[in-house]
Amino acid sequence: MADVVILGAGISGHTAALHLSRLLGKRNLGKEHTVTVVSPNSNWNWIPSNIWVGVGKMAKADVVFPLAPVYRRRGITFRQAKAVAIRPQGDELDPRGAVDVVSTAPGSAGETDRIRYDYLINATGPRLRFEATEGLGPEHHTVSVCTADHAIEAAERLSAVVARLRDGVPQTLVVGMGHGTCTCEGAAFEYVFNVDHQLREAGVRDLARLIYLSNEAHLGDFGVDGMVFEEQGFQTTSELWTASLFRERGVEAILGAHVERVEEGVVHYETLDGLHHSLGFDFAMLLPPFGGVPLQAFDRTGADITSELFAPSGFMKVDADYTPKPYDEWRAADWPTTYLAPGYDNLFAVGIAFAPPHPISQPRKSANGTLIAPSPPRTGMPSGVMGKTAALTIADRIKHGPQAKAHEASMADMGAACVASAGAGLRTGSAASMTMMPVVPDYTRYPTGRSLSDTRGELGLSGHWVKLMLHHLFLYKAKARPGWQLIPE
Ligand SMILES: Cc1cc2nc3c(=O)[nH]c(=O)nc-3n(C[C@H](O)[C@H](O)[C@H](O)COP(=O)(O)OP(=O)(O)OC[C@H]3O[C@@H](n4cnc5c(N)ncnc54)[C@H](O)[C@@H]3O)c2cc1C
Repeated sequence: MADVVILGAGISGHTAALHLSRLLGKRNLGKEHTVTVVSPNSNWNWIPSNIWVGVGKMAKADVVFPLAPVYRRRGITFRQAKAVAIRPQGDELDPRGAVDVVSTAPGSAGETDRIRYDYLINATGPRLRFEATEGLGPEHHTVSVCTADHAIEAAERLSAVVARLRDGVPQTLVVGMGHGTCTCEGAAFEYVFNVDHQLREAGVRDLARLIYLSNEAHLGDFGVDGMVFEEQGFQTTSELWTASLFRERGVEAILGAHVERVEEGVVHYETLDGLHHSLGFDFAMLLPPFGGVPLQAFDRTGADITSELFAPSGFMKVDADYTPKPYDEWRAADWPTTYLAPGYDNLFAVGIAFAPPHPISQPRKSANGTLIAPSPPRTGMPSGVMGKTAALTIADRIKHGPQAKAHEASMADMGAACVASAGAGLRTGSAASMTMMPVVPDYTRYPTGRSLSDTRGELGLSGHWVKLMLHHLFLYKAKARPGWQLIPE
């Protein structure tokens, strides 16, 4: 009998939970073994489609569904709660690992509990650190598309901008990154692409100034140090590709920018040359920097071991090489493969929750010493693969003993796709699709860091179909409908 606990029901945690119910047998769950998912939110959210909610093309109901009925069908126990502490060595009453949780469920909100585990997966995703920039975020002066509710508000504000444009009032729209150390540039790129499409569809693009404001030093960096593509025998870069896309659409770009502060209608930012600027806006969607979800850690005696388990960023340390080195000396092999926490063979951190060993994009400082450096992205596909990898290891160890070899999946071997798709219909959409393989460049294997045959940038309606298909496929898979396991992560 083994008890598996998963913290978080996002892309990585939910994927791990479904695979564990498959691998351990859903009929055995609750009898032989238990799989418990702890998440503060009762819904699952297909976050990539929040972009379409954020321009009013989809409703919240199109991108979320309740988790409890799916977990009931799969034999998984669902606890609507947030984890606050991990006790990997247990406590004085029980040497098994334990997690302290606080209920967020209606009727029991605030009640605390300690859940014992044999295996634990931390898949808590990002903490949205709006507070890192004064005046940033939906509670202040900018909107966000990080959650479905944020995206609804973004769509309402965008619709008000369109109405003012229709009245002939020029408007400035700023889309991008709300801090110099943000990640997820791909999401901001996709949103700016959608906003442009939306303004054109409404026939009001002429009066709108649309600006992409980013911490990337070059267009097309995307936090992965850019990409090299091969097109008809020639090599080109994601920088040229993105620049021509923006030029065609009349999107202005402000690069190498660290947003310092936002006031009502004004964003203040510093650029790599050390200059400080102010930009007036009527609409601003600026993403926050991410940190780890705050979790404390205690040893068996109750002593605080948080700094042993977690990096200062709040992300959990795993089997990566965290030795500090200059940027040029980092290697693909430094990236984790098993997602096991050092010193524990039953504790994993997957998806955004694990601490990356180093930046992928070259970190830069402004002339004043301000760090302006995109953080490494951990996108949906790698997050799902990591969740599945941890589930495979746990299932093997439950079935064959704790010495069973851990499964491996490194971001230096995994691909990722970013499909910036505008419009949600079958005939009118358009997409800029990028695929890269691997996410972490490996210059020992590829002269350009990545496979030229699997790293591409394409424009057109077909990418839009792919994005629409992925939306429906991933919702189908997450609902664990028949054959769900055949759909890759
Ligand atoms: C707007 C936007 C668009 C994106 N578009 C794309 C895209 O097109 N393609 C792509 O590949 N990626 C995209 N991404 C990135 C993708 O969403 C993430 O890579 C993915 O969601 C990460 O999965 P995760 O499981 O680590 O975190 P999440 O999916 O964020 O899940 C985290 C889970 O942990 C739960 N949680 C939080 N705190 C606690 C706690 N204390 N205790 C227990 N549970 C907790 C949360 O409620 C949630 O269920 C996008 C991201 C954004 C913000």
